[in-house]
Amino acid sequence: MLGTLHAIAARRAGLDVVHLEREPEPRGASVRNFGLIWVSGRAAGPELSLALRARACWEELAAQVPGTGFRPHGSLTLATSQAELGLLREAAALPDAADRGYQLLDAPAAREVNPALRGNFAGALYGRKDAIVEPRQVLPALRRHLLASGGQAAGYSWLPGLEAGQIAPHAVRDHTGQWHRGDLVVVCTGAAHTGVAGPHLAGYQRQPVRRVRLQMMQTAPFGSRLTTSLADGDSLRYYPAYDLPGLRQLPPQAPAAAAARAQLLLVQRPDGSLTIGDTHDYAEPFPFDLDEGAYDHLRGQAERLLGSPLPRTERRWAGVYSQATGPELYHRSQIAPGVVLVTGPGGRGMTCAPAIAEETFS
Ligand SMILES: Cc1cc2nc3c(=O)[nH]c(=O)nc-3n(C[C@H](O)[C@H](O)[C@H](O)COP(=O)(O)OP(=O)(O)OC[C@H]3O[C@@H](n4cnc5c(N)ncnc54)[C@H](O)[C@@H]3O)c2cc1C
Repeated sequence: MLGTLHAIAARRAGLDVVHLEREPEPRGASVRNFGLIWVSGRAAGPELSLALRARACWEELAAQVPGTGFRPHGSLTLATSQAELGLLREAAALPDAADRGYQLLDAPAAREVNPALRGNFAGALYGRKDAIVEPRQVLPALRRHLLASGGQAAGYSWLPGLEAGQIAPHAVRDHTGQWHRGDLVVVCTGAAHTGVAGPHLAGYQRQPVRRVRLQMMQTAPFGSRLTTSLADGDSLRYYPAYDLPGLRQLPPQAPAAAAARAQLLLVQRPDGSLTIGDTHDYAEPFPFDLDEGAYDHLRGQAERLLGSPLPRTERRWAGVYSQATGPELYHRSQIAPGVVLVTGPGGRGMTCAPAIAEETFS
């Protein structure tokens, strides 16, 4: 996502682009995520501003490239206890609540917004600014757009199956030994913290980025249409917007959720299937296998809120993202003359990528 959106920003700046990708087709975090353009949970200040700017970029981009699947559907974060509801109430009273599109709803009002919610919950926070894109479609759609508006001869070359192996001023060499030279090289290698980015991400005492592994699943098409994405009360523990006094009043997470550091996020895809996650692993080496206990918990939680059994699981996968560990929202550094490394947007990378790319060029 970061690489592709830098390509778009570069083309807008009037530059020709040569785009290297080591896989035949991207297989990283950008195709494994929910596709949530998530404004609601961002920390006040620069993080919220970046997310709002990015959301505006997504909307603009979607007008030119409908294949992104952008839908301004908003989200409902559902409280199942009075403690969670109290925290949602505090969030709804934040000074920037209107910027986030927050609206506190009781359960009947939430069901009016999203009639697929037939389960038990105490109330919801409507995040009207949240949106959805289609992670399995968006990268090819944006590339088709880049190729159509100019094409290979006129400024954009897509070179899959080529791994960047060496960096030099204003240049990069791929694994076949060929050098690619330019005014600017932007290295967006995601969670690959070794390889070309490796030497520049290895801190003396503390690395500027860490990797986080998440488990995800997707069901067969669900019988009802969901009008918003959904989050459960556990999501309040993971998004900085909810770092409010009420957070300290929440009881401990259910043991299965605590073990997997799980929160329920749920997005319906255009074919009716449900993308469901997620979990958080911070300690490497990461498990190479998928933990069924986490899936049992997430499935149960979704069924309780939707008030109906979920269709069978059709796919399971894990994904890894790169997350900046310092106060910055992501990592950008100049690693050689004319070479910039951009990574580490963490769990906000799909949301913020267009604004991050814009910042690189500004
Ligand atoms: C399961 C999961 C769910 C998530 N959900 C969301 C969400 O809903 N909303 C949100 O905002 N964020 C979400 N995120 C975070 C978001 O997906 C990431 O922050 C974002 O996709 C990172 O984009 P990227 O381009 O930096 O990395 P990547 O998508 O990993 O892309 C890096 C690319 O670089 C290529 N590459 C690496 N090394 C080389 C090399 N040497 N030469 C050539 N190519 C190379 C890789 O093959 C890859 O295609 C989620 C992440 C995960 C894992």
